[in-house]
Amino acid sequence: MFLKTTIIATKISNMKKIIFPVLALLLISYSCQNVEHKNSKKAKYVFLFIGDGMGIQVINTTQVYIDSVLKSDKSLSFINFPVQTFATTYAANQYITCSAAAGTALSTGSKTSIGTLGLNFNHTDTLFSIAKKFKDTGYKVGLLTSVSIDHATPAAFFAHQGSRGSSYEIAVDMLKSGYDFYASGGFVDPYGKKLKEPVESIYSLGKKYSFAFTSNLDSVDILKSNFKSIVYSTPDPASESTLKNYIDADSADVTLAELTKKAIQTLDNPKGFFMMVEGGKIDWACHSNDGATAIKEVIAFSDAIIPALEFYKAHPDETLIIVTADHETGGFSLGNKENKYGNKLSILSNQKVSKENLKDLVINELRRKPRPTFAQMLEFAKAKTGLGDEKLNLALKDEEQKKLLEAYNKTIRELEKSSSKTDYLSESKEQFSSLCIDFINKKAAIGWTSTAHTGSPVPVYVIGNGSELFFGRIDNTDIPKIIVKSAL
Ligand SMILES: [Zn+2]
Repeated sequence: MFLKTTIIATKISNMKKIIFPVLALLLISYSCQNVEHKNSKKAKYVFLFIGDGMGIQVINTTQVYIDSVLKSDKSLSFINFPVQTFATTYAANQYITCSAAAGTALSTGSKTSIGTLGLNFNHTDTLFSIAKKFKDTGYKVGLLTSVSIDHATPAAFFAHQGSRGSSYEIAVDMLKSGYDFYASGGFVDPYGKKLKEPVESIYSLGKKYSFAFTSNLDSVDILKSNFKSIVYSTPDPASESTLKNYIDADSADVTLAELTKKAIQTLDNPKGFFMMVEGGKIDWACHSNDGATAIKEVIAFSDAIIPALEFYKAHPDETLIIVTADHETGGFSLGNKENKYGNKLSILSNQKVSKENLKDLVINELRRKPRPTFAQMLEFAKAKTGLGDEKLNLALKDEEQKKLLEAYNKTIRELEKSSSKTDYLSESKEQFSSLCIDFINKKAAIGWTSTAHTGSPVPVYVIGNGSELFFGRIDNTDIPKIIVKSAL
């Protein structure tokens, strides 16, 4: 009890420190909220795209990559939207936010504390999302993500949990929400294995709520006439029930763009719909400081917006599309200390796998008998990433080779210590793969200042009916308020 009170007191004292900025932002928000919605017709179809961890720098660098490396004259689908602004992202008790607090701000219009979903900062009150408001008003609602559906960002649109880690309870809240379509990589804990007591699985419980679960995208059309809600999960997910990183995926893997397309077909109806689409793995790539993977994830996210833009073109007066982020991750920059002014982004095009995938591949290699030598592992890394190839400007310096040798020996020691063949090695125990990716990022003039989130404001891109209501510097809590004003 004492601990709880102390935590709350600390939170309140922290909140006092942000009262002034909050007041200032309230004034800014007030001026935004008082602008008239010029179009007498309300937006019937609302798309909210959230690039998790997608700051302005990773967006800009992806566009530079498209221009200078892919030599394409195409732009990111949202980069030329007519209305563009920035939103502050701070949480109720901490300036640098997390996806749960930021997701709750974007879904409910209220600030909350770190790790909290759909509850106020001290968990004494319930906050409701605009998705529920749309559903209660007769709109169809869909939530799509490239991570798992019980992850913080989608969960912020239906869950009411004090901890974002309560995966099973979040999935139960999803059943209670009764929206029309959910699509993702799957669930983290659908059988409640992390709980102390045995519980009914989400799949079994879902039947009572008229939920259908499928991993066949084509079956959605048939299922929607027989069930209230449909949950699609990809048949071949990556670890932690996510879609594969775009850089690792092949043509058989389902993309976020295909999910958006299917969601439009599923939700389209004369009353209208609200759809939230999250590019969840931009954040993961940025946490890993993996520039090539982050850029490819931004491209996949941009591709997922194209079906919404096509829909907008067919319904220009009735559609609103917002593209934003919940926070920035990694402190990403185009340019770093090692290279100063050089654009060396072409180096990243040699990387064929994500850091996440390279780690698994390295462990598999080092488990082989006979074990590959250090020289063979350098060749392996070169084949997967180009590292070590002088012709690609990726020559290894002596000190880099030395560090890789130390990492190679350390991983072998850790593998010999581990009893099981499937033991997970943390990043501190398997450093060979992460060093390879770190060296590539440095050589490609990509800078990183953090492996966590940063306090940078995030860009907001808007097109369609109601877009004129987004202007000036806004806060993330303004976004759902403006959406409601535009549509409901
Ligand atoms: Zn994150």
